[in-house]
Amino acid sequence: MAANFSERQHCPAQLEKQRGKTRHGRKPTSGLRHCFPSLLPLTCTGSLFPLWVHPLTPSLLPISEAGKKPACRNNGVPYQRGRRPPGRLHLRRLGPDLPASRRVPGPGLRVPPDQSDFLPGQYFDLRVEVHAPVNGTEAFNNGVPDEEFSVTITKKGGSAQSLINVASKIYRRIRLSDPGEYEVSLSYYGDKTTVANWVVRPTSHRKKAKNVIFFIGDGMTTNMITAARLLGHRSINGKYQSLMQLDKFPVLGHQMTHSIDSYITDSANSAAALYSGHKGTVNAMGVYVDSSPDPFDDPKVETITEILGRIWGSVWGAVTTATISDATPAALTAHTRQRGLYGPIVEQALNGITNYTWTEQNGPDVYFGGGAEQFLPGAGSYQGKDYYAEFANKGYTVSTNKTSLLAVDPTEKALGIFCQGNFPVWLDRNVYVENLKAFKNNPAGGSDPALDLPGLKEMTVKAVEILHNRGGDKGFFLMSEAASIDKQMHQLDYDRALGDLLEFDDTIKATIEKLEELGVLDETLIVVSADHGHGFDVFGSADTQYLAAQTEERKKRRAIGTYANSGLSQYTEEVPGISYNTGANFPVNWTPRYAIAAGVAAAPDRREDFKIREGGSRVPASSVNGEYFSVGVHSLTDVPVFAMGPCQNLFGGVYNNVDIFYKMAECLGLGHVGNATEECTAKPKKQKRTLRH
Ligand SMILES: [Zn+2]
Repeated sequence: MAANFSERQHCPAQLEKQRGKTRHGRKPTSGLRHCFPSLLPLTCTGSLFPLWVHPLTPSLLPISEAGKKPACRNNGVPYQRGRRPPGRLHLRRLGPDLPASRRVPGPGLRVPPDQSDFLPGQYFDLRVEVHAPVNGTEAFNNGVPDEEFSVTITKKGGSAQSLINVASKIYRRIRLSDPGEYEVSLSYYGDKTTVANWVVRPTSHRKKAKNVIFFIGDGMTTNMITAARLLGHRSINGKYQSLMQLDKFPVLGHQMTHSIDSYITDSANSAAALYSGHKGTVNAMGVYVDSSPDPFDDPKVETITEILGRIWGSVWGAVTTATISDATPAALTAHTRQRGLYGPIVEQALNGITNYTWTEQNGPDVYFGGGAEQFLPGAGSYQGKDYYAEFANKGYTVSTNKTSLLAVDPTEKALGIFCQGNFPVWLDRNVYVENLKAFKNNPAGGSDPALDLPGLKEMTVKAVEILHNRGGDKGFFLMSEAASIDKQMHQLDYDRALGDLLEFDDTIKATIEKLEELGVLDETLIVVSADHGHGFDVFGSADTQYLAAQTEERKKRRAIGTYANSGLSQYTEEVPGISYNTGANFPVNWTPRYAIAAGVAAAPDRREDFKIREGGSRVPASSVNGEYFSVGVHSLTDVPVFAMGPCQNLFGGVYNNVDIFYKMAECLGLGHVGNATEECTAKPKKQKRTLRH
C-alpha cells in the first residue's frame, strides 16, 4: 500500500522519456493534448501501455480544419502554438487478474459513470475497463477481454463471483470546460456499445461569497434537532421561549444522500459527494472505484478545496471532533477507495497527491481534531513518520491542548491534535467530567488521559480567526464537523448524541458572532447539513423510576407514556442541587424522572431503561457468533440543509447531495474556465518542447 502510494509511476515526465513511436508506427500528434480543454468530440482508440494517446480524426475536431494542425481553443480563446499543453492523456493496461470477490457492473465499465455531473473545468480521471468473465453462465469471449475497444465523448448538439479478465485504460487529469450534455460511448468486442450521459453544469465564474463555512452534523436528522431542542430549550404551553441557532436560519432545504451502489450511504462517499459534486461508492472518497488492486490509483475527481486553491488561491481548514483522518474531514483532500487508510490520508491532506500529477494542494491552514495515532511516529502514521514534525516543518504551529490552542498566533498555519481517537463527547467533557479520567487518549501518546480538551466551539472560532487572517482578500473555506452525533447514534446513546448536537448548535451561534466581530458575516456563506441520517425519533416519555422498580414485562410497558401521557420536557426544569454551568441552551437537568422515550424506530414496545448513562457511553453492541446486535446503523432519510449569507436562496427546496457542491461552486465562482488558458500559455519546459512537430 505504502509503496504504491509513493511511486510516481505514471507521472507525465517519465512517460515523456519513454515516449517513442507508437504501436502503429506513428508519432503521437500533439493535437489532442493541445486541444484537450475543448476536447470534444474526441476519439481514442485502444492500444497498449505506455504511450500517448494519439489518433484524432481531424474531421472530428470541431475547431480545426482537416489536414491542418488543430488550433486549440478554450472558451473561444485561441491556444498559442508551441506552448505547454493544458492536459494530457495516457493509456494504461492492467494485468489480467481481478479479485474474484470484486463486484463488476458489466462487461463494459466506464468511470465516471452514467448520470455524472461536472463543474466546468473540473479535473477528473477517466477509466475504461472491458471485462471478460471466465467462469459460469457469465463466461464471455473465452475470458479474453477486448483490448481494441474505443471510447468517444461527444457533446450533444455539437458533434459477479467469477474470475474476470480485464482490459482497461485510464486517461488522467482531463476536464470538460463547455457546459452542456455529453454522451460517452464505449465500443468493444466489435458490436457492443455502452453509453453514459454526463452533464457539465453551467456555473458562474463570479465570486459572490468571500468565504464559505460548511458545518456538518454527522448523521444529523431533523428528528434529532427536534429532540435536542426539547432538551435544551424551555417551552410554555407548547411554545418555545428560546430557539436553536439552526431555527433562525433563513433558508431550509432537504438533500437526498444515496450513493452510487446503495441507497444507504456512509460518511466517506457522502462527504466526497458534498465536496466534489460526484457520487461515489461506500468507503470511497474523491475517486471512482475501479477494479485494480491499488487503492490509490482509482480515477480521481477534484474536490472543492483543490478547485478553490487552484482558481482563487483561497485557504481552507477542517475542524472535527473525530480523528482528523476520519471520513468527513478526510474527503476534503483524500483520493482513495478505502477510507480506513488513515496514515496515507493525512499525508494526502498535508502534501496533496504525489503519485500522480494532480492539482496542487499545499495543505490546510487549519487542521483541528483528534487522531494522534496518525501523527505519532509508529504503526498508525504514514511510513512510520512523525507527522507532528512533518507539519511543523511546513510552518505549522502545533497545539495539543485547549490552553495552547487558545494561545495560537492567529496569523500562523495551525495544526491541533488534542487526543488519540475521537474526542470524548460534550456530555463527558462538560457534565460527567470524571469520565474523562478513564480515557487513554493523551495526544502525546501513552495511556494517560487527555484532560485539557477544547470543544468544537473553541476549535471552530479559533479556525475562523486564523483563516480570516490568512485568507485575506482571497477568502477561505472551512468545514467544521460534529462527528459524534453519528458515533453516539451508532452506540444507541441518544443523550450523548443530542449533547453533541447542542454543542454543534452552540458552535454555529458562536461562529456567527465571531464573523460579525470580524466584519465578514455578510460576505460569508454558512451552510449547515449532514451527510446521512439515523432512524432516530422520540415517541413519548419514560418514567424511569417506575420502570426500574418493575420486574414484570407488562408492567414495564406502563412506564412508557405516549400521546397525552408523554407529558412535558423535564430537562429544562431546574432541580435544587443540580448545576452543570453549561450555560443557556443546554439542559439544566440531564437525569429527569421522565426521560424522553427514544429509539431508532418509533416503537413503544421496545424494552430498555431509557436512563442516561452517567458513567460513560452505552456499549449496546454484543457479538454473538461474530454477528453484532443492537447497533445503530445509517438510515434512508433525507437530511436538512440550512443556509444563510450570500447565495442562501440557492439552498431552498429538495435536491441531491451533489447539488450542494454545485450550489457552493456557483456562489464561489468556481466555473472558472479561463484558468485552462493560463496553463495553455505557460512556457513549456525544454524537454517537453521536443514533443511537438
Ligand atoms: Zn456513521
